[in-house]
Amino acid sequence: MLKLSTALIGFIFGLIVLVAAAVSGVVSAVFGGGDSATSGPPSQAALADIPGKYLTLYQQAATTCPGLDWSILAAIGKIETDHGRSNLSGVHSGSNSAGAGGPMQFLQASFDSVVARHPPPPGGSTPPSRYNPHDAIYAAAAYLCDSGARDGDLHSAIFAYNHADWYVNKVLAQAQRYRAAAATPPASADGWVLPVAGRCSSGFGPRDGQFHQGQDLAAPIGTPIVAAAEGTVLNAGPAGGYGLWVRIQHPDGTISTYGHINASHVTAGQHVTPGQPIAEVGNRGQSTGPHLHFQLDTREGPVDPVAFYEQKGLHLCANS
Ligand SMILES: [Zn+2]
Repeated sequence: MLKLSTALIGFIFGLIVLVAAAVSGVVSAVFGGGDSATSGPPSQAALADIPGKYLTLYQQAATTCPGLDWSILAAIGKIETDHGRSNLSGVHSGSNSAGAGGPMQFLQASFDSVVARHPPPPGGSTPPSRYNPHDAIYAAAAYLCDSGARDGDLHSAIFAYNHADWYVNKVLAQAQRYRAAAATPPASADGWVLPVAGRCSSGFGPRDGQFHQGQDLAAPIGTPIVAAAEGTVLNAGPAGGYGLWVRIQHPDGTISTYGHINASHVTAGQHVTPGQPIAEVGNRGQSTGPHLHFQLDTREGPVDPVAFYEQKGLHLCANS
């Protein structure tokens, strides 16, 4: 509800605006990049699509914000103006019907506010201009950083750029396509992949007089969670102590559970493939910090996810 009212208030402001950096941290965090601001090399698709001058700017600007990957900036640049190639009004001069202008589609007031706090480095216009790719991309990085990327909250950062969940998802998906094979999680011979890149916190076993039936993986809110294997979504929605969850039924009878999530990208009955993004790490329900509760229930009952993956040659706690 809070988000909804925020979205309404910010509707005009957020109509077109800028998004970029917040997402990247999540993407790199999930697939092994760590907190690499520039870690992920461009994919072939990125090299084929992004003008060299823009790619360099995205990469350089991303280094100004910990947790912001260049691919997030590039995804926003792609979605907003096709890296400045769009001929729509407001891209090269003037503004569109919402008041946005330039390759990163800044409102003039937003741009002025950002560059007042974070002047772009030398190399752009004097004074800085939202139509100058150098200035616009550095400003977008600063805006995303201030909006949550710095704290690892890419969802909030991108949402601040344009107040719509579909926009956030579109940026995150585009950013993944721009990142090289590092974005493909390793799979076991029988098709299982790691659900998230997180730090193993509380493990499977007795805890506080009860039995903790899964493995907790700590990661920033918004970190992508992927389907651990092929299957059919059993549940996606509110779930008592888990706050919000997704459960997937796999062909061998195993059910994987993803609890405390911040958002779900799937619906019950949907078929999912290994590594398909299904949710984002959250802190909902009975949770003491942002993490994924990951549980595996085989036909014989719950099993230790760490041991389950070790048997397949994958290390669930590799990032711990
Ligand atoms: Zn747990």
